[in-house]
Amino acid sequence: DYAGVWLRNDLRLSANPALAAASEVNGEQRCIPALLLICPAQMDEHDWAPIKWDLYVRQLEAFVVEAAEQGVLLHIEVIDSWRTAGKSVKRFAEQHGLTQVHINAEYPVHEQRRDRAVQGVLQLMQVALKVHHGSVIVPPVVTTQSGQVYQKFTPFARAWRDYVAQHGVPRSAPLPKRAAAKPATIPEIDYPRRDSSAWAVGEANAQQVLRDYVNNQSSHYAAERDMPALDSTSRLSAYWEIGLLSPWQAAAVLSELSPTFPFGLDKGADTWLTELIWREFYSHLMHHVPRLSYGHAFLRHTDAMQWRQDNEGFQRWCDGKTGFPLVDAGMRQLAAEGWMHNRVRMIVAHFLVKDLLIDWRWGERFFMQNLIDGSFAANNGGWQWSASTGTDAAPYFRVFNPTLQSEKFDPDGSYIRKWVNELKDCPAKHIHAPGNWLKQQGRTDYPQPMVDHKQARERVLAAFKSL
Ligand code: FAD
Repeated sequence: DYAGVWLRNDLRLSANPALAAASEVNGEQRCIPALLLICPAQMDEHDWAPIKWDLYVRQLEAFVVEAAEQGVLLHIEVIDSWRTAGKSVKRFAEQHGLTQVHINAEYPVHEQRRDRAVQGVLQLMQVALKVHHGSVIVPPVVTTQSGQVYQKFTPFARAWRDYVAQHGVPRSAPLPKRAAAKPATIPEIDYPRRDSSAWAVGEANAQQVLRDYVNNQSSHYAAERDMPALDSTSRLSAYWEIGLLSPWQAAAVLSELSPTFPFGLDKGADTWLTELIWREFYSHLMHHVPRLSYGHAFLRHTDAMQWRQDNEGFQRWCDGKTGFPLVDAGMRQLAAEGWMHNRVRMIVAHFLVKDLLIDWRWGERFFMQNLIDGSFAANNGGWQWSASTGTDAAPYFRVFNPTLQSEKFDPDGSYIRKWVNELKDCPAKHIHAPGNWLKQQGRTDYPQPMVDHKQARERVLAAFKSL
């Protein structure tokens, strides 16, 4: 047998089960042929943000060098549509005389359909397509006792932990030293550019960030993670998303902290692990529930909701000019950094959907267009959770009060002051609802609240009730 790898969102040499499996088949004497197809049209369809593109291409440049040194003979092609993927993979298999092509699975429906089509093409050539699950710690096989996909997070997380306890942390053997291969040429790619250099690329760098975070900071996570001013989360999300790291590596580092992993971690690390399980929950849902890939609500009846077609209100939300300081701070952080703190993501999402009664899909799309970690599954999950159209265990009457959220999670207003310049000199006691203070000062540079939260709350509750 001779095996090759079709790489996608997995530009890494470590913890890459597709690559490791091909390496094992080929032995140390033979190189590993690898193909990377880049389809800008599909990335556009998935609304890849310019900053995410930039990170991906920077990592690709690093990967090309590292892969060649490890004897991975990489060929990169830019294609117009996934419809021609079969042709490209076929040519790749023929050129190298492959009998197996290994891939790491991707879960949205289009990608699954593409992979099945390619499998069909390869089958005709008697080449096997072998699927691995390198972007999740637990493959999408855990189901309820009756074989259904878990619809609620808590029982899923329990089953997830039991699975890991039983099967262990997934690992792939390091690639043995091979003769170096010729580095791939990166073809001209037409993509939107936006500086992503706040995120380091290169596997060794990213692994160091992960290790430092888990060993030195995760123990504070439970206490600090909801306070955006502390900025104490890992900011690793973009790395899993572009495949520079695998969550397998997070599990491996965490498991060094507890012999009974996934149990026995301190509260901070355990809470951090729970967030990684949320990520897996949404990936599994994407795999099992095709309607999510078609823009439908998880809770079907909520698709009948009459959302307000308020373009102007939506624009104010996008621009961070709603007059609700924490909402505006979050939207401005997104604009400035291509990233937003999780607590604030929940608050701005609630605000758009519940206070403005605007379709969660508008917000979902805007997030994808701007986030460095834009993830079809996690973003869709986060939006639908916030919109009460998804898997939130609490019913639709969970409506965040943006002012109370602000008082609770940014008590002294430091996060707001960092991002909302107009409120830099606003005293702490007014910062969460500065309307009257601004009026007294005769200031009009920061907007008055664009809605009355109490009325908006009643409006959205009535709208949900009528469904
Ligand atoms: P940490 O707090 O360090 O958490 C560790 C890891 O756990 C993260 O890297 C992430 O992979 C995962 N994680 C954390 N929180 C969540 C969560 N609520 N749901 C799923 N996974 C989680 N995450 C994305 O990766 N891409 C998105 O496009 C995305 N869109 C979101 C949209 C909304 C409306 C909401 C409410 C959440 C969204 N999230 C998304 C989840 C979460 O906000 C980010 O994963 C997190 O803020 C990333 O920062 P971090 O790496 O510092 O996270």
